[in-house]
Amino acid sequence: MMAAIAALGMNAGQFNNEITYTKRGTTFALVAQKAQSVNLNIYAEGTGGKPVKTVAMRKGEKGVWKAEVKGDLKGRFYTFNVKQDGKMLGETPGLFAKAVGVNGKRGAIIDMAATNPEGWESDRALGYAPTDFIVYESHNRDFSVSRKEARYPGKFMALTEPWAIEHLKSLGVTAIHLLPSFDYASVDEEHLDRPQFNWGYDPLNYNVPEGSYSTNPFKPEVRVKEFKQMVKALHDAGIAVILDVVYNHTMDIQNSNFQRTNPDVFYRKNDKGEYSDGSGCGNETASENPLMRQYMIESFKYWADEYHLDGFRVDLMGIHDIATMNLIREALPKNVLIYGEGWSAGSCAYPVEKLAMKANIYQMPGIAAFSDEMRDAIRGPFSDDHQSAFLAAKPGHQESIKAGIVGCIEHPQVDYSKVNYSKKPWAAEPTQMMAYVSCHDDLCLVDRLKASIPGIGTDELIRLDLLAQTAVFTSQGVPFMLSGEEMLRDKKGVHNSFKSPDSINQLPWDNMQKYPQVFAYYKGLIALRKAHPAFRLGSAELVRKHLEFLPVEEGLVAFRLKDNAGGDAWRDIYVVLNANKYACMVDVPEDAYTSVVAAGKVNLDGIRSTTTSKLEVPAQSALIVHN
Ligand code: CA
Repeated sequence: MMAAIAALGMNAGQFNNEITYTKRGTTFALVAQKAQSVNLNIYAEGTGGKPVKTVAMRKGEKGVWKAEVKGDLKGRFYTFNVKQDGKMLGETPGLFAKAVGVNGKRGAIIDMAATNPEGWESDRALGYAPTDFIVYESHNRDFSVSRKEARYPGKFMALTEPWAIEHLKSLGVTAIHLLPSFDYASVDEEHLDRPQFNWGYDPLNYNVPEGSYSTNPFKPEVRVKEFKQMVKALHDAGIAVILDVVYNHTMDIQNSNFQRTNPDVFYRKNDKGEYSDGSGCGNETASENPLMRQYMIESFKYWADEYHLDGFRVDLMGIHDIATMNLIREALPKNVLIYGEGWSAGSCAYPVEKLAMKANIYQMPGIAAFSDEMRDAIRGPFSDDHQSAFLAAKPGHQESIKAGIVGCIEHPQVDYSKVNYSKKPWAAEPTQMMAYVSCHDDLCLVDRLKASIPGIGTDELIRLDLLAQTAVFTSQGVPFMLSGEEMLRDKKGVHNSFKSPDSINQLPWDNMQKYPQVFAYYKGLIALRKAHPAFRLGSAELVRKHLEFLPVEEGLVAFRLKDNAGGDAWRDIYVVLNANKYACMVDVPEDAYTSVVAAGKVNLDGIRSTTTSKLEVPAQSALIVHN
């Protein structure tokens, strides 16, 4: 890693050391490569007022501008103002502020060590292997805002509360993936009394927690401390913490911290000299640029080190280049999970064969991508919410689901020529594939079922919901679920709820009493996966050796995990997914079988045992048996 950074002509930690605080004085070091001058302003407040001091920074090596201000600056705020080409670029908290004032306009000088909660020294990332991750994708506000017992509705601190921890532990997920929780722009932190909501895909300060999720966004140390308290509480419960990171674009170009320090360096332009927009959000960053590349490496590393994070979900990872993603992988501890969206939202101003797209995942060991093959084969294509697929027993989706079951690796029984999007396997190892049927994007599963199967009743909806997630939780990829699916959430049919009100986005906690069978089934499937290594073999070789598909009619997918796969206590495990509206028979070698999943119920101790050569799978349900 050090060699790689040296090759870029940069110093390790170049960005990360933007301010160094001691009681005697604070040093400032800003990368501003083409600046003519840089002013440092010191303020008493996080917003408003005039600087109490302005210091002209001096130019050092490699475009780093430096200043030292004597005295104890704790509690003060600061901005930089860069002059380039005769023009002042405007005030900015810099590139790597670790604490900011309200709405992230000014950096804040705090004593980072004082933000550590009790017991933080012994807190660590949990070090789970990729095969141990069962990911629960959650939004800080959705999760807790409507929960009656919540002391801190909509805040990081909600995830320290007993009811929250108890829910996650009871469900059995091993990791929570938080939608953007770095400082983003769209929610006005000064007016949290007004109804506001956003997913947060509009980055402002990459290395600071978001203020609206803290109990006091005006006090810079509070969000830092509360984020750590959240991580600690989750870690204490054995739940890993994954952050959704959005380095592919910034809120805007004009006012971004990148543009106000190093104009145009961090963004891609197309052949016409216009800003490229591969993110669909107005711009796209340039990870191949040595500065952006190092910035990303340092930022990932900072979150992992300072906040003990267990994983990262990389938004529109297909905008970043392969080399940068591999350097990030190398810079992070081996067991920090990295997965991303292996696509972009528009065309990028960089050769597609060099981008961290899904098709190139095999060149990125230890990095995973979401499988849209499996997702869309189950529920229907992302391009049309009203179209159904396997869940409506439509033919032609078996191979795509099979690809998802094996983790999109090469497998002798998966015919990739019949897979919906990828005509060849793209993962070298099964843990390079995220298995899912819904996430925050697009309709949640309930809404999708309603939209694609007109007139569907509640009973059928529940049957198909459980069937869909059975594919996810028995996949050799890394299983991933949207929070609230376990309580049959809906979003009133809203497809893109990124700024919808709480009434759309909040979890319906009352549903826990209304549909207890849904929670029980999810919990059962997760327990099954955790108790049986056959479902998470972790290597392509083992999957090819132990996972065998059975020849079955349309509307069914069936496979067995044979010969005590992965050292499993069960010799052979048969999984059958039946989307047909009638019961189906599947031929198996005559033997005594015990069912553990049947007709929407899970019991790991066994539901029923019979000696047979034919498994009967009830309509619209999954059957799992073992011998
Ligand atoms: Ca913010």
